[in-house]
Amino acid sequence: HAKGNGRGRAEPFSVELAARIAERTTLEGDLREAIDRDEFALVFQPQISIEQGRVVGAEALLRWRHPREGLRLPLTFLDCAEETGMIVDIGDWVVESVAATIARWGRIGIEQRLAVNVSPRQIDHADFFHGLRAALRRASAPAHLLELEISETLAMQCSDAVLAAIEQLRADGATIAIDDFGTGYSNLSRLRALPIDRIKLDRSLVAHVADDTAARTIAQAVVGVIHALGCEAVAEGVETPAQVEILRIIGCDVMQGYAIAAPMEESAFVSWSRGSVRRAVGDAR
Ligand code: C2E
Ligand code: MG
Ligand code: MG
Ligand code: MG
Repeated sequence: HAKGNGRGRAEPFSVELAARIAERTTLEGDLREAIDRDEFALVFQPQISIEQGRVVGAEALLRWRHPREGLRLPLTFLDCAEETGMIVDIGDWVVESVAATIARWGRIGIEQRLAVNVSPRQIDHADFFHGLRAALRRASAPAHLLELEISETLAMQCSDAVLAAIEQLRADGATIAIDDFGTGYSNLSRLRALPIDRIKLDRSLVAHVADDTAARTIAQAVVGVIHALGCEAVAEGVETPAQVEILRIIGCDVMQGYAIAAPMEESAFVSWSRGSVRRAVGDAR
C-alpha cells in the first residue's frame, strides 16, 4: 500500500498533489478508528406537514466529531468511506443507532417516523436489509416508524434483488423515499414501478421558487408528477418564509429546511418536537 511513502518522495509531482495524498491517507486512518472511538453521532431535522404545520417525522443525518478538526459534515468524508468500503461499517452503525433512537423515542411517547440515508455501496451489500431488519427487531423498533431514503440515481440503478428487498421492507411497514429528486435522470416509467411512498424535491428545485417564475412552474409540475405517481411530495432545503408560502400554494405536502429548523442533537429535537406538538394542539383548539 502507498501508506507512508507519499510524503517526502523526491519526485517532480506537485507539492499540492503530495499534500492531497497525505491528507487522504490521514483521513482514511482517522475514519478507520472513528467507529471504535465512538466519534460518530446523528443529528435530527424535523419534517413538517405544510397544511397543518405539525411534525410528521425527522431525518437522521450523520456527523463525525473529529478529535482534532471538530465536527465534520458527511460531504468531507462520505466519498472516502464509499471508496474504501468503510461505509458498510459506518452504515451499520447508523442503522443500529436509528433503530435504537426510534425505540428510545417510543419509550418517552414520541412516535415520530425517522428517515435514514443509505449509500449505493451499502445497499449493494447483500446483508444490508437483513441487518436493518435485525436491528429493528433487536431494538424493538416498529418498522412503520422507519423511512429509508435512497437517492434518485441509486433508485434508477438498483438491481432486482435490491428492489425485492426494498419491497419486503415496505411490506413490513417501512416507508421508502426517493432523495435528491431532480438531480439525476429519472425514467418515469421505472419510477412508477418502484415501491415508493415519498419523493423529496432536491434543494436545487426549491431554491428559486420564490423569485423566479420558471422555477416555480417547474416545482409545481414536479409536485404534480409526484402526486400522479401516488406519492407524497417533500421539499428539502426550504430556507425562507417566501418559499414556504409558494410550496403551500403549489400543493407540496411536507417540508424540511432551515426555515423550520436546522438539524439538531437528540435532546434538542425531543424538546422541539414536544413544543411543536403542543403548538399544533393549541392551534386546533
Ligand atoms: P441529504 O440526505 O439530501 O440531506 C440533506 C442535507 O441538506 C443535509 O446535509 C442537511 O443538513 C442539509 N440541509 C437541511 N436543510 C437545509 C437548508 O435549509 N439549506 C441548506 N443549504 N441545507 C440544508 P448534511 O447533513 O451535510 O448531509 C449531506 C448528505 O450526506 C445527505 O444529503 C446525505 O446524502 C448524506 N448523508 C447524511 N447522513 C448520512 C448517513 O447516515 N448515511 C449515508 N450513507 N449518507 C448520509
Ligand atoms: Mg436524505
Ligand atoms: Mg436530499
Ligand atoms: Mg440533497
